[in-house]
Amino acid sequence: MKILVSNDDGYQAPGMLALVEMLQQLDFIERITVVAPDRDRSGASHSLTLDQPLRPIETQPDFYQVNGTPTDCVHLAINGLLDFMPDMVISGINAGANLGDDVLYSGTVAAAMEGRFLGLPAIAISMGDHHTPQYYSTATQVLSDLIKQLFQRPLPRDMILNINVPNVPFEQLKGIHITRLGHRHQAEPMIKAHDPRGRTIYWLGPPGNARDDGEGTDFYALSQHIVSITPLQIDLTCHADIPLLKAWLSNHK
Ligand code: MN
Repeated sequence: MKILVSNDDGYQAPGMLALVEMLQQLDFIERITVVAPDRDRSGASHSLTLDQPLRPIETQPDFYQVNGTPTDCVHLAINGLLDFMPDMVISGINAGANLGDDVLYSGTVAAAMEGRFLGLPAIAISMGDHHTPQYYSTATQVLSDLIKQLFQRPLPRDMILNINVPNVPFEQLKGIHITRLGHRHQAEPMIKAHDPRGRTIYWLGPPGNARDDGEGTDFYALSQHIVSITPLQIDLTCHADIPLLKAWLSNHK
């Protein structure tokens, strides 16, 4: 099993280094290749770099930093950089949870999505509900068990698993749930300030609080110290609304 690792926190992020260290201890993994952004690209979503070339730098064998987004990294890895095809991509471990609407903005999830063409499910893994997780070993232990299971009982390809692990010691975990995405309220307002020259600037405000966080959602699981695994799909079509829209159009001819 060959694993491609990426993230959106950058190639020096402690969460990713913890992930790589864990993978190195699994004997059925033949090869681990890291292709990750050269700096923090959190919130990059599924963006590609079109206005400059990508310049991978191999800082050590099988470990590349790239002047691009998480999506660039995985796209480059499987469409040119590597002379072999990985079996799966694992993105993370992100510092901070990716719950509900977060997945639309997340570079962590985007990197996994970009790996959906590989042979096994792509995994995005994030930790905690704030941005300074302490218990990466909890996430690596959870993931290690899941990968062992995946090795023995493979799931179909084209599946994207969005895993969120509570930021608590492993012994305090209350289990693993398969969940759906919840929803957040609208984001908090932008924070208006002035630069030293008196010009108006804006900082992005914090994300909204959870609005739909009932039982069965990713928000709920995390709040209960339960690991959340949400299967994601690429197709954003709202199939249920197609008949309604067709009817609406036929009435407006
Ligand atoms: Mn991040």
